[in-house]
Amino acid sequence: MRPILYIVIPCYNEESVLPVTLPLFRARRNKMVEQGKIDAKSRLLFVDDGSKDATWKWIQQAAQEYEEVEGVLLSRNRGHQNALLAGLMEAKEKAEITISIDCDGQDDLSAMDEMVDAYLNGCDIVYGVRKKRDTDTWFKRSSAQGFYKLLRWMGADVVYNHADYRLVSKRVLEAFSDFREVNIFLRGMFPLVGFRSTSVYYDRSERLAGESHYPLRKMLALAFDGVTSLSVKPIRLITGFGLLISLLSFLLIIWVLISYFTGNSVPGWSSTVLSTALLGGIQLICLGVIGEYVGKIYMETKRRPRYIIAERTEEKTTSCFLEAEKAQKIQK
Ligand code: UDP
Ligand code: MG
Repeated sequence: MRPILYIVIPCYNEESVLPVTLPLFRARRNKMVEQGKIDAKSRLLFVDDGSKDATWKWIQQAAQEYEEVEGVLLSRNRGHQNALLAGLMEAKEKAEITISIDCDGQDDLSAMDEMVDAYLNGCDIVYGVRKKRDTDTWFKRSSAQGFYKLLRWMGADVVYNHADYRLVSKRVLEAFSDFREVNIFLRGMFPLVGFRSTSVYYDRSERLAGESHYPLRKMLALAFDGVTSLSVKPIRLITGFGLLISLLSFLLIIWVLISYFTGNSVPGWSSTVLSTALLGGIQLICLGVIGEYVGKIYMETKRRPRYIIAERTEEKTTSCFLEAEKAQKIQK
């Protein structure tokens, strides 16, 4: 049986890149249908993450024009991860497999063939992994590498150099929908679901148009979110650090007492001020990290929806179907 594939594509202010990449996505999907790899009911599902430009209009038009294009619009910008989740949860109802991919054409579409093959060979999750990052700037490359290393070191189980280009089967998505957290970091969460998984390797190219929405500030935020939502290691590190400082101060007390009793004590203003300042700083950092977790707990307890869908493109097949029904009724 050929699986129904939904290719889920989050878009935020991408009016300049969609006209370039839509034909590529369509060609890839159509080719796989022709090859008999996937069912003809397979679709491209664009998720407009509350864009401020003409992205949604563009998606609507494409959905009208091409049967294989569908779209959903979120009620406001919720960020890449939530947009992707919204798309996956929409697709879950209709598809046997989903592939998530960015809309900017950076990820090699031909890797999809291999992903589907891996699924047909029994894998439920297939991670797309970037072979090399020649086309990224030195800065982007090294910061991204630092990002994966940091995540791993902090105890988050992520696949090295895998972003959000991946195939996931329906049963993984069904299991995943029980992960109710609000702070989501998908590439670190899918490995937690389990099932058989594998990786396919591809070259990453440059953005075909428009510009990146992930400047350093957002990358740092994503890294911080990734670490704090997947691991409590930073809190443990702080505890360890606190213990170390306490031990040192204990030694310091002994030394001070000895100096006092041997009559060597000199009023040391600078050392007092220095140590107070140092400890104050360390305490503030520790409080900040703990505060981050408390904040996360606060957000989780609210159980707010992670995304709200404002609109869907009309389903072409069903509307044709309805029209056919209408015509039949009229005939009768
Ligand atoms: N994106 C999104 N919501 C946002 C920011 C980005 O849906 O708030 C989408 C964007 O349209 C693209 C993908 O996420 O399809 C990845 O973004 P981008 O290409 O800017 O990131 P980079 O590849 O530079 O890391
Ligand atoms: Mg990109």
